[in-house]
Amino acid sequence: MQAAVLYEAKQPLVVEDVDLDSPGPGEVKIRLGATAICHSDIHFFDGDVPMRSAGIAGHECAGIVEEVGADVTSVKRGDHVVMAPITGGCGRCMNCMVGLRHLCQGVTRSGPHHRNKRGEPLAPLAGPVGGLAEYTIVHEFQTAKVPDDLPMHVACLLGCGVLTGFGAVVNRAQVKPFQSVAVIGTGGVGLNAIQGAAFSGAHPVIAVDLLDNKLEAARKFGATHTVNASQGDPVQGVKNLTGGRGVDFSFIMAASSKAVRQAFEMLGPRGTAVMVQITSGDMSDFAPREFIGERMFTGSMLGSTRLQLDVPRYVDIYKAGRLKLDELVTECYSLDRVNEAVASSKSGAALRNVIVF
Ligand SMILES: [Zn+2]
Ligand SMILES: [Zn+2]
Repeated sequence: MQAAVLYEAKQPLVVEDVDLDSPGPGEVKIRLGATAICHSDIHFFDGDVPMRSAGIAGHECAGIVEEVGADVTSVKRGDHVVMAPITGGCGRCMNCMVGLRHLCQGVTRSGPHHRNKRGEPLAPLAGPVGGLAEYTIVHEFQTAKVPDDLPMHVACLLGCGVLTGFGAVVNRAQVKPFQSVAVIGTGGVGLNAIQGAAFSGAHPVIAVDLLDNKLEAARKFGATHTVNASQGDPVQGVKNLTGGRGVDFSFIMAASSKAVRQAFEMLGPRGTAVMVQITSGDMSDFAPREFIGERMFTGSMLGSTRLQLDVPRYVDIYKAGRLKLDELVTECYSLDRVNEAVASSKSGAALRNVIVF
């Protein structure tokens, strides 16, 4: 079997033959159908996140169960599944019991399961999936069943980008009708936050970005207003669109300190800024007095996703025409063209590039 191996940051991935273990207890072996290139993968490729060893990235994946290990009960051979870099929760740990299954403490990460032909282990990178390979092994709790007729290149988007963006709005923020929303950074995840806000009945839904073509895309996904932050102060732009009050929720998708600061300043009283990007930004210049208006910051762990509950729901609303997925896929590539797919994703030219196996 082939995999795209990252040996060194800033170097091309090496597509080569690798070996894979058999699934252990609770684990499933998956034949990959499709894996989307996510920006978290790119942070590893670029060395923004230090890698401890050579490994296999790819965590936004769909595939077919090939083999199940001992004690696996939720899926069987032949099932079509989405795989995610979080688990649906063990159901027994304290976090699961209080309803925070996406923050489960009970599952120890398995792997590495891949080895190169020199016998060196290849760890899963950017999440415990290892999806840039023809086969991989994940814990059964990381999988959610999807219908057989859902195309793989669409299904894979339900492994990270949709969960992260849509989930930040509907699960973490729990946006309600007529609440106002701004999304800063309208790449793939940002567009999913926008469609989550539109689905929730938010108004206005304001897209903030530096590029007009991204703002145009945002309108197609449900943004009611757009603010081009390269053409003036986006905080003022957002305030103008909310009667001077500011928004109830801002979602930070853009990896910059400036975006973090702007997201906070564009909030109305008791508004919440939700940190979705987790890579860069300095928050040391926030002063205690800035919180007098009861404005809040919070994080969102992969959209606070309840994997086995949310994925089937997303499939349902996709089939009903209320969730755009096809429109998120810019181009499909074979595994041997993975470096082309990554370069195109890095350039910002693509919403999502997908490796199809
Ligand atoms: Zn991702
Ligand atoms: Zn748990």
